[in-house]
Formats: sequence, structure tokens, C-alpha cells
Amino acid sequence: MNHKRIFLSPPHLAADTAETVCEAIASNYVAYPGPQLTQFEQMVKDYTGAAHAASMSSGTAALHLALIALGVGAGDIVLTSDLTFIGSVNPITYCEATPVLIDSEPRTWNMDPVLLREAVEKCVRRGQKPKAVLLVHLYGLPADMDPILEICREYDIPLIEDATEALGTFYKGRHVGNDGILGAYSFNGNKMITTGGGGMLVSPDKALIDSSVHLATQARDPAPYYLHTKRGYNYRMSNILAGVGVSQMRVLEDRVQARRKIYSYYAERLGAIKGVEMMPDCKDFARPTFWLSCLRLDKSYGLGKPEAIRQALEAENIETRRIWKPMHTQPLFAETEMYGGAFGEELFDYGLCLPSGSAMSEEDLDRVCTALEKQL
Ligand SMILES: *Cc1c(COP(=O)(O)O)cnc(C)c1O
Repeated sequence: MNHKRIFLSPPHLAADTAETVCEAIASNYVAYPGPQLTQFEQMVKDYTGAAHAASMSSGTAALHLALIALGVGAGDIVLTSDLTFIGSVNPITYCEATPVLIDSEPRTWNMDPVLLREAVEKCVRRGQKPKAVLLVHLYGLPADMDPILEICREYDIPLIEDATEALGTFYKGRHVGNDGILGAYSFNGNKMITTGGGGMLVSPDKALIDSSVHLATQARDPAPYYLHTKRGYNYRMSNILAGVGVSQMRVLEDRVQARRKIYSYYAERLGAIKGVEMMPDCKDFARPTFWLSCLRLDKSYGLGKPEAIRQALEAENIETRRIWKPMHTQPLFAETEMYGGAFGEELFDYGLCLPSGSAMSEEDLDRVCTALEKQL
């Protein structure tokens, strides 16, 4: 095959990456802390409007610390999104807490507020008030925050936002990740921007960020020797990686615009095909990034069609992926309590994620669409 491979969402580094990394090296602050870390955190705060931020070794680590910050422990219930990547839910199990899974809704592909209320009421009625809600903003689409916040306020349940796929997404003018008491971003290689691996914890509450930083650095107490009263972790990002992050933050808005254009291209060309529906654009209330552009096929195509398309495109050296397999269908969570489930299952059965890398050319997009059109 002589066609170059089109990846799903490869890293897209900025032209000045080597310079900002060299600045980190020249400073000799190559580990933690360092000037690039401070700069990177400030840039994320400025862009998202977060009041406080701390970079971490991964988005998963940031979510783990968020749960610890809220005191989530063994036996506690955490209400969480069912349709997501395992990285949202694993941290709940690190705390030995019990996830209770909530299905998505068609309007946002994210947590259904009606099912959330049902779950909260049921848990409260049986004397198990949930310790937290941990929701995801999937594929750069925002969850419908207002009704969810209302439920959380009414029952006084703290909210954590997994915004690892949604840096750059705004809901009613507010950047996602800031409505909850804690939020997490990710800089893994396939995300909106990358540091080659990393994450960030944000919060309006300085004390929560300070205590999380303490835990992320092995929980060293202030003393002239090594003194520990709490169990800590080694979860901080290195200053060299923050150097990559600084150059990435400078181009973040360009990357958002590129992915939004990719979505528009797909929507225009594929959305017109009968039986093909693009993911919602949420344009009445949000500015999604469309981290990954996804489509959904009509059931009349038959089960197995998305997998057949995936394989056909793979044969043309084009990478696509199935939609996340819902958590309640994972062997790991076979026994887990679930509210709804049919919508997520249908997206898994009939959905497909298309190549969405911000460096894609119009020629690449044409190649993907031409290959898809042959299958539809
Ligand atoms: C990527 C991702 C994570 C984890 O982020 P890492 O930085 O890879 O640890 C968590 N949740 C979701 C939904 C993700 O897509």
C-alpha cells in the first residue's frame, strides 16, 4: 500500500516545541518543580478561567486525586458516566468506592440529567447518599451542566468533571471543568493537545489544589527530615514535559478551530447520506471542540456494519475506532448498578469515530470520506 496512514488523533506538535523544551533544559529544572510548570499552569488557567491548577502525571492521576480530595473511600457511592473511557472510572475503584453508572442522553451524548436524578433519589432513599458525581465531557461535547448542577446543589453532592477529552469546549460561555468543585484535563498523546503524557487538576478552591499537590508529592510534611502523616503519591508532571505544554497551549485555539473544521467537513459530506447522523453539534448552547468527529448509523444498516466499515478503512490505511464500549457492558463492571443503558449500547453498536487529527489536510479528509462513501 502506498497511501500514507491516516491516524485517528495523532500528536500535533507546535513549531517551537524544541525551543520551549530547551528552555526547560537550560533552566536545569528538568524534574519537578520548574518555571515551565508554573507557566504552563498559568496558561491553562488563563485559557479555561480556572482559578487554581496543578499539573499531574496523567488525567487519570488528576481524577484519582480529585476523588481523594473529596474524601471518597471504601464503600462510598460515586455516580458516574457509563459511556466513557475506562480512565474515568478506574480512579473510583482505586479508592475502593462503588461506581453507579448513568447512561448518556441523545442531545449531548453525555450524562442524562433525568437518569441522574433518578439515581440520586434512589440512593438517598436507601440511605446511601452518593459521595460525588463524576461526569465526562465525551469527545469534546459538553454535558448538559445546568440541570446536573441543579441536582448536585439540591442534594449537596460535589461534582467532579472529567474534561480530559474536552480542553477548549465551552458550555454557555463557560469552559468545561470549572462548574464542578474539581476538574481534570489530559495531555495524553491523542488528546486536544499533548505533553507526551500528563494531566491537570483544576478547582475554584485553592485549599483543594494545595492539598492535592501535597499528596501528589509523596505527602511530605514540613520538617527538616522526611516526615509523613498521610499516604502520598508520585503524581507530578516534570518541567521538561511542561515545556512541551507551553508550546502546545500557544496553539490550542488553532487546534480547536482545526478540529471544528474537520467536523464541519464530515457533517457536510456525510451528514447528507441517508441513515448517517453526525454527533450533535450542540450549537444552541455550546462551542464543542469535536475532539473526535463521530457518526452514528441507522439501525437498518444492521449490527456489524461499523466494524465492517472500520476494517474496510483499515485496509486503506485509515484508522477509525468504535465508540467507547459502555462501562456496564465491561466484564470489570458486570455487577455494577446501572441507570438506563440502551442509548450507550446503541452508540457502541452503530457509532464510529473518524480520523480527527488537527493536522489533517483537505486531501486526507477527502480520502476518508471517499472510503466511507463506498461503504454506505
Ligand atoms: C484520556 C482519558 C482519561 C485519562 O487521561 P490520561 O491522561 O490518559 O490518564 C480519562 N477519561 C477519559 C474520558 C479520557 O478520554
